[in-house]
Amino acid sequence: MLYGALEVGGTKMVCAVGDESGQILDQVSIPTSTPDETMPKVIEYFKSKVDPSLPDEEKIRALGVACFGPVDVRKNSKTYGNILNTPKIAWRNYPMLKTLQDALGGLPIGFDTDVNGSLLGEATWGCAKGLQDAVYFTIGTGIGMGAISSGKPVHGMLHPEAGHLAMSIVPGDDYKGHCPSHGACFEGMASGPAIEERWGKKAKDLADKPEVWELEAKYIAQALTDIIYTLSPQKIILGGGVMSHTQLFPLIRKYVLEYINNYIDTKELHNINSLISPAALNGNQGIMGALKLAENATIE
Ligand code: ADP
Ligand code: ZN
Repeated sequence: MLYGALEVGGTKMVCAVGDESGQILDQVSIPTSTPDETMPKVIEYFKSKVDPSLPDEEKIRALGVACFGPVDVRKNSKTYGNILNTPKIAWRNYPMLKTLQDALGGLPIGFDTDVNGSLLGEATWGCAKGLQDAVYFTIGTGIGMGAISSGKPVHGMLHPEAGHLAMSIVPGDDYKGHCPSHGACFEGMASGPAIEERWGKKAKDLADKPEVWELEAKYIAQALTDIIYTLSPQKIILGGGVMSHTQLFPLIRKYVLEYINNYIDTKELHNINSLISPAALNGNQGIMGALKLAENATIE
């Protein structure tokens, strides 16, 4: 059975076809500029995969869309599937799901946040396979978090926004923060642009400055500790450009244990290298998650 998968990102749209085993059979990448310029190309790709002249076994049965946020993921909402108040002005209030539905006729379409998509990929085929409670953080230009609770993606009144958790300022850090809404929230203190503004250099050129990563790990560990207390995840997956500095992992694990201070005693915390880990699907977790969203759309 073939499914379509679309990962809507701030810099590119990844369009793919794959099967129920998670195998990607075809993939193209389209730069994200404006909806007028980008969406016709995305639609053309998926239209060619539902073309009536194709034999049935070569047609996609559904499409899954994993989209940067904030997005409306509430199925009973009038604006379900719209991009909401994004700083990417051209995409603000863009009806992503409706545009695809109108263009692709009656094709079932599943829709979720990019981070819930990546987590779904990891929970189906990757390092969170079989787990009921897990979270996925992306720490890059922004910070986002997806969550699965009791086996279901967490939406609630909208969707989690754990990139904006409040932080306790680390003593000696006088950086005011980068978030336009909150200043010194998690994203304001620990996103890639925050690192670069605080230290005056590209993050990848700071690799040999231990003080940069000590401070970064302390903020990330604060956020993870809050999430451990609130969602009690069995796995915390960390991705995004900042986490490509992999030396952060041991520092983050150390500070999480220090902050929890033995208050919780679980086998997961005793095995913290597994509790807090990188994604396992080699950068394909997002597109594979979108594939799973497509499959889920056929059974809902
Ligand atoms: P986006 O969030 O836009 O999808 P990424 O997840 O790739 O993109 O994150 C980009 C951010 O990652 C940049 O702001 C940069 O500061 C940071 N970054 C890129 N490479 C590295 C690196 N080697 N080490 C630490 N941070 C990095
Ligand atoms: Zn914020």
